[in-house]
Amino acid sequence: MSDLAARARTLREALARYNHQYYVLDAPTVPDAQYDALFRELQQLEAAHPELLTPDSPTLRVGAAPRDGFQEVTHRVPMLSLNNGFSEADIQNFDRRVREGLGLTEVDYACEPKFDGLAVSLLYRNGVLVEGSTRGDGETGEDVTANLRTIRAIPLRLPLADPPPVLEVRGEVLMLKQDFAALNAAQAARGEKAFVNPRNAAAGALRQLDPALTAQRPLSFFAYGVGEVEGLDLPPTHALLMDVLARLHFPVATERAVVRGVAGLLQYFERIGQQRAGLCYDIDGVVYKVDAFRLQQALGFVSRAPRFAIAHKFPAEEALTEIVDIDVQVGRTGALTPVARLKPVFVGGVTVTNATLHNEDEIRRKDIRIGDQVWVRRAGDVIPEVVAVVLAQRPDNARQFIMPMRCPVCGSAVTRTADEATSRCSGGLFCPAQRKQALLHFAQRRAMDIDGLGEKLVDQLVDGGLVRAAPDLYTLALEPLAQLPRMGMKSAQNLLAAIAHSRQTTLGRFIFALGIRNVGEATARDLARHFGDLPALLAATPEALQAVPDVGPVVAQSIHDFLAEPHNRDVIARLLEQGIHWPEVQAPTVQARPLAGLTLVLTGTLPHLSRSEAQVRIENAGGKVAGSVSKRTHYVVAGADAGSKLEQARTLGIQVLDEAQLLSLLNQETPSP
Ligand code: NAD
Repeated sequence: MSDLAARARTLREALARYNHQYYVLDAPTVPDAQYDALFRELQQLEAAHPELLTPDSPTLRVGAAPRDGFQEVTHRVPMLSLNNGFSEADIQNFDRRVREGLGLTEVDYACEPKFDGLAVSLLYRNGVLVEGSTRGDGETGEDVTANLRTIRAIPLRLPLADPPPVLEVRGEVLMLKQDFAALNAAQAARGEKAFVNPRNAAAGALRQLDPALTAQRPLSFFAYGVGEVEGLDLPPTHALLMDVLARLHFPVATERAVVRGVAGLLQYFERIGQQRAGLCYDIDGVVYKVDAFRLQQALGFVSRAPRFAIAHKFPAEEALTEIVDIDVQVGRTGALTPVARLKPVFVGGVTVTNATLHNEDEIRRKDIRIGDQVWVRRAGDVIPEVVAVVLAQRPDNARQFIMPMRCPVCGSAVTRTADEATSRCSGGLFCPAQRKQALLHFAQRRAMDIDGLGEKLVDQLVDGGLVRAAPDLYTLALEPLAQLPRMGMKSAQNLLAAIAHSRQTTLGRFIFALGIRNVGEATARDLARHFGDLPALLAATPEALQAVPDVGPVVAQSIHDFLAEPHNRDVIARLLEQGIHWPEVQAPTVQARPLAGLTLVLTGTLPHLSRSEAQVRIENAGGKVAGSVSKRTHYVVAGADAGSKLEQARTLGIQVLDEAQLLSLLNQETPSP
């Protein structure tokens, strides 16, 4: 017995502490599920051993007393809590108790979402909002009138010609999901701590001593009942009351319904559960209320909650757990993603063991360390997220995460360009994590053009161990290929022919096929033209690369990093050994360079060529493009809306060309659109 008494005391103390943190400080330190489990344990202990029940037990109380600094408001009709149900059996028991209490065989229930915010009461005297308060301990709440007046969804005056002397509307203040996401993004941008969930954010925002602070937070309100009423005839059911409140301009849940019996309740639970992730607000369950007020009154209340209602809770979307380690995953495109390995935790209805941490910056911003206790959130089917660290519980040996300098899969150098938050493995041609992506890219029509080498086949070749990198394609033997599922001799022969055929290519296609980040087809062609051969490209410094049209510092860096990685160089050498070749890029000769020694100036918009395309063509033909017209200018190429340069050309007597004339000088045809 003394063991049980001690356990009851421990539970009471823990729950009182958690209540204070949750209701008074708006900063819970344990997840709701854990709180609910302890609460339930104490309830069961007290039910089995009534002598253990003390008058101060949290099971008899609502919320917590008002916080210092607020004026107090006495609720003439107490603001109660709700009993909770978690399982079908809990709901069946509830329905049974209701039916037995009323002596009925079937009961109609009003069902609505359980908003995850905080309860408030709005007092209208003669149609004007005169007082707004929090629930507090149910009897006494905090006066937050000025704060509530800043919430646009709350009417300041009832739209009635002849308003009742007293109408007290009760409902929930909350933060819509999108407002919460925007608020957290803004917090992050300012380097401030994220809120764990919309409920805490809403509670913190409403319970400010300075209403100006509340006004800055995007709060919403939904009504779900009334308190004191004078001079207004209420309809006979809860559902009809909700319609009345809606007509008085109070937002009410659109997902409300009236259902019959326990089967109706469970169907409603199922339906709202499916809609949960798509709702604009967070809900932590649904609420069932006996619909007829006459029956509600007959059932009455227990200490802290009505007998005629119950909250049917969904699995919690937040949990606390420990970061056991932080690993790095390498994606198909070489992106390195840090992943938190978590002590397994049940959240959002599943056991979660990993959570992506996105990138290094995100880890620094949230100050996540290995060994930390963290809040994990899994809402709907969204991948689990580490929301915040419980700094107060950081162990002394918590370790910082360091992004590895070498790819954990292949050992190639890890790089990160100035414009990106993501770190990447630079061994694109070699890294097993990037193999399939690299082969698909290599084989595509605009690259090496290997007909028939699509996604399914690449999967088979790689998974079957026949190909590890692009050079292996060129040594594939017919037999093992033909034995692959869905292949056959004929297809295998065709594939080998296509592979053999791809040996004959162009330098531009080959460069594109390497899959260098930021190097598309056009840039690859420009690189080929500029450097003329592969050794020159391999030897190019980032500065030399930037001399190529449209190659800026970021692209130059990624080309350089890729080609500097020894693993990639090996693969390139092996490809060349397999006989891949291309026609020599024309050595610059006088005939091939019709504009050698000439200076041209471009002005206006040409019909087909962009400014940079025209420049590349002129430069490839040996010409120079200058920015301004002078006596040394040989031609001015003018397009639509040409400006002062055209006039200068005329003044100086310089020959003016249109696009067609330029192209004919270059011995080129007008490009097709
Ligand atoms: P509750 O939140 O479970 O239920 C009662 C409240 O539900 C009402 O006061 C009202 O605010 C709200 N509600 C939302 N939609 C409603 C609707 N349609 N109709 C009627 N009411 C609606 O009860 P509670 O007493 O406010 O809080 C208890 C719960 O709070 C616990 O179950 C636990 O999950 C959580 N809690 C957590 C901690 C913690 O440390 N993590 C501490 C205390 C309480």
